[in-house]
Amino acid sequence: MFDYHIHTRLCRHATGSMEEYVEAAVKRGLNEICFTPHSPMPGLYGTNLRMDLEEFDIYLNDIERVKKQFKEINILTGIEADYYAGYEDFLAGFLSGYPFDLVHMSIHFIRHWPEGQWVFNLDPARPLHEIYRDYFNALEEGIKTGLFDSVAHFDLIKQPGHPVLKSNIKDVEKIIDLCCRNGLSIEINTGGLRKEIGEIFPSTDIIGLMISKGVSMTLGSDAHTPSQVAFRFEETAEWLKKYPEAKMVRYKKRKAYSYRYA
Ligand SMILES: [Zn+2]
Ligand SMILES: [Zn+2]
Repeated sequence: MFDYHIHTRLCRHATGSMEEYVEAAVKRGLNEICFTPHSPMPGLYGTNLRMDLEEFDIYLNDIERVKKQFKEINILTGIEADYYAGYEDFLAGFLSGYPFDLVHMSIHFIRHWPEGQWVFNLDPARPLHEIYRDYFNALEEGIKTGLFDSVAHFDLIKQPGHPVLKSNIKDVEKIIDLCCRNGLSIEINTGGLRKEIGEIFPSTDIIGLMISKGVSMTLGSDAHTPSQVAFRFEETAEWLKKYPEAKMVRYKKRKAYSYRYA
């Protein structure tokens, strides 16, 4: 089993050293993990979210160190890069400058929203389907940049009691189709099970739609502490077993390879 979404204390809001995460992964019996720190975004708000650009070599050195130290598990160099309009040139340069295995795209902030407003802190005055649409429009723009391999926490925007698929099915279908066409995968992220929403990202009905459309998928825990590595993967694996046609992929040097998950 693989966990393709892992942070460390280099992201200032996560705890635990890289060694501790690898040890936890080995204990959980994983064969492969991908570290995915939040990308440095010089000048963008959310500085408590990410390392500075100057710290990036620390991350790469840490990766090299644990690769040598732990031979029993495959360790990939990934990144969770924010798509935020206006940062395309920076990201293009940054992403091409390092030997990444996997680049996740995340939308945490939306360009035309008030500064510093997270996608899950919504403006109560606006109808939810419009807010959801802003988010999916940003996803669409991000995918079209061609800078990313995979979409992380696909329905991060969702609010309790307001399923995204119900109000925005056209947007969801458009994004899945775009991922199919452009060769991006979509992540199944168990981190949502720890959040207020209490469900996986994306919700199982959206995953069902993804499977029926044949989009590639990765699996990640979004661990922010070592104990969250492979968070609730057993039940996710159990659920996925019902869908032998699910197209799971692993990555190496930003190329996707199919594998049978369950
Ligand atoms: Zn985080
Ligand atoms: Zn993350």
